[in-house]
Amino acid sequence: MTASDPTRPIVGRFAPSPTGPLHAGSLLAALGSWLMARHDDGLWRVRIEDVDRIRDVPGMADRQLDALRAFGFRWDGPVLRQRDRDAVYQQALDRLLARGDAFVCHCSRRDLDAHDGRHQGACVASGVRSDPAIRLRVPVGTRVAFHDRVRGRIEQDVGEAVGDFVLRRADGLWAYQLAVVVDDAAQGVTEVVRGADLLDSTARQILLQRLLDLPTPRYAHLPLLLDAEGHKLSKSHGALPVDPACPLPALRRAWAQLGQSPLPQADEAHVFLEAARQAFDADRIPRHDHALCAAP
Ligand code: GLU
Repeated sequence: MTASDPTRPIVGRFAPSPTGPLHAGSLLAALGSWLMARHDDGLWRVRIEDVDRIRDVPGMADRQLDALRAFGFRWDGPVLRQRDRDAVYQQALDRLLARGDAFVCHCSRRDLDAHDGRHQGACVASGVRSDPAIRLRVPVGTRVAFHDRVRGRIEQDVGEAVGDFVLRRADGLWAYQLAVVVDDAAQGVTEVVRGADLLDSTARQILLQRLLDLPTPRYAHLPLLLDAEGHKLSKSHGALPVDPACPLPALRRAWAQLGQSPLPQADEAHVFLEAARQAFDADRIPRHDHALCAAP
């Protein structure tokens, strides 16, 4: 089953990790995913990806939600929080284990360092750990191809590019790849729109969807914002935070970064968003990343 099934309503989503305030890159993902869904009268959902309890900053999720509201966004249904979903992830993992698609792995990072940091086929563990990881078995030759609405056809041999990847970490935390697949299905997501830094994860996610008999959404990966040296702007680089108290300039900038033609002046964020929703043209989204030399 794929998202092109006409009986399924269009559902987009924005899924921030609460590791820092919204920045220019996350606003671009929020706006792009909102437009892609709302332009076609679809639903738009929000999910807080607080699966990584080590990196998450307390209170940040609420700050991000407040910022989204200040930027004029409204979402459908309750906000899903990954930290509430251990039992659902466990069910998916049990299923993969029962079918032999997943396996317990005692390899440490140091064991794998001698093998390019990858786990491919056989465990090379030097000892038995009290806290083993669980990995997905991905033989070389496991190819996944998909059509990205911005970047076109993408194909990856997941076994060769990534190898047997982690589903549950040795520290007991759920891997992003498993959580995102289970949650996109739970939220009925048909359109995944996010930054191109996650393009490389998509084949892994489609593979998991197939093994778990879950539908595959459509994918669109948005241009990345780069600093003057060509590096991705990320929270760790102190990337351009956006100011929820002054939403219009940041919204206008994100709109331009999506390759869209300028809109008439608007006094309020929700007025801007409504005009943007109507005028949005997904075919204009650039395939290339943007160098952002200017300050916010
Ligand atoms: N939580 C991820 C982030 O904040 C996004 C994951 C996704 O959109 O699939 O970068």
